[in-house]
Formats: sequence, structure tokens, C-alpha cells
Amino acid sequence: MKRVSDCVFCKIVNKELPADVVYEDEQILAFRDIKPLAPVHVLVIPKRHIESLQATQPSDDQLLGALLGVARQVAKEHNLTGYRVATNIGKDGGQVVNHLHLHVIGGKPLSDLPALG
Ligand code: AMP
Ligand code: ZN
Repeated sequence: MKRVSDCVFCKIVNKELPADVVYEDEQILAFRDIKPLAPVHVLVIPKRHIESLQATQPSDDQLLGALLGVARQVAKEHNLTGYRVATNIGKDGGQVVNHLHLHVIGGKPLSDLPALG
């Protein structure tokens, strides 16, 4: 599995850093954001290091669909009626951690939520 030694999310995948994991399978991990913007703020990531959505290829489309499916399941398990799924891409997109992740945010009205990143 490709990993980048100084990538914080690869370290979480490899259990070198702790995380509050809410979902795990062969290719995907989901865990709570360390600085939640809402009562529910979960990050859904591929275990394989991929920089961002922009670094994916058509051959990753199954994985991308699976990431969205996990986001849907996390929302269901937290009984979220309305929520947001977002991914920041690149510095100008507000991406801070360069390992693809979906933010799943909910548990309060999001109209006043600041921009991510
Ligand atoms: P982004 O701006 O989209 O790259 O978001 C990165 C997110 O990762 C931020 O919401 C951070 O709070 C979160 N984050 C950074 N380090 C950790 C960590 N060790 N465990 C959980 N979440 C983290
Ligand atoms: Zn990584």
C-alpha cells in the first residue's frame, strides 16, 4: 500500500497515530475530525495515499463511489437528516492535509458554518 512517511493520515491508517475510528474496511477508514466544526464531523479516507480528488483516475472511480457510500453510512448511523459532504482540493481549495478525504459534517444547521480549511 502506497504511503507517505510524513503524511498524518497515512500514520493514522498505519496506527502510528491514534484516531477515533468509526468505520474501517480493506480500502477505507473513517474517523472523527480532531477539530470538529459540528457535533458530527467525520473524515472518510482511502487507506492508500492519494493526494486529492484531482490525483485520482478513472480507475479509481469504484473507490470514489465507495468513499461516498461510507459517507452515506456514517450519516445514517449518526441519524443525520441533513448534512454536508465536502472535499478540499489543493492549497487554493483550502486543503491542508494532502491525503484525499471527505468531510462528513452535520448534527446542527449548517447555514452558518464557516468555509472548510
Ligand atoms: P482539509 O483542510 O480539508 O485538508 O482538512 C483537514 C482536516 O483534518 C481538518 O479538519 C483537521 O482538523 C483534520 N485533522 C488534522 N489532523 C488530524 C488528526 N490527527 N486526526 C483527526 N483529524 C485531523
Ligand atoms: Zn497519506
